[in-house]
Amino acid sequence: MKIAVLAVQGAFAEHEQMLEELGVEHFEIRRKEDLDRNFDGLILPGGESTVQGKLLKELDLYEELKKRIEGGLPVFGTCAGLILLAGELSNDTGVGFGTLPVVVRRNAYGRQLGSFTVEEEVRGVGKIPMVFIRAPYIEEAFEGAEVIAATGGNIVGVRCGNQVGISFHPEVTGNTDMHRYFVEMVRESIS
Ligand code: GLN
Repeated sequence: MKIAVLAVQGAFAEHEQMLEELGVEHFEIRRKEDLDRNFDGLILPGGESTVQGKLLKELDLYEELKKRIEGGLPVFGTCAGLILLAGELSNDTGVGFGTLPVVVRRNAYGRQLGSFTVEEEVRGVGKIPMVFIRAPYIEEAFEGAEVIAATGGNIVGVRCGNQVGISFHPEVTGNTDMHRYFVEMVRESIS
């Protein structure tokens, strides 16, 4: 099994560290040629979704990745990665793939003071620490999108088929449970 990590901007190195700890083979997607390599799953890291969306198009990665996600490639989007997956943004125009049937609110907790940590249950994962950094949340999950996490009355995690999107950053907590969940999903998809 091999997992690709989108590495055009943001917290990709931290995700690679998590995969390293789980002993999962991984590589970075930075340019179009990287898509020629085989991979069974994709991680979209946190960062700045507008910049990431722009770079995906400039680097000519957008169309091919969108096609693969629509074709069932397991994908795990965290924070800006969730924004890239969102079918709709309530306070912005679409910046990404738009493959996940949810409405997402960018910078939902405020731009500057919106960083905090909680511990909550994620369905199928267990109780884990959640770090929110200028995070979005999910205002609405449409049919097919199962809510897997919520905090403070807001949805912060969904799963829809092979797509998982979460508002928080598990890669900075030292806890690998969320990544193990995704790796398991990828394993199931190739077995
Ligand atoms: N606020 C960022 C955005 O809208 C997301 C923040 C993050 O990924 N930590 O893209």
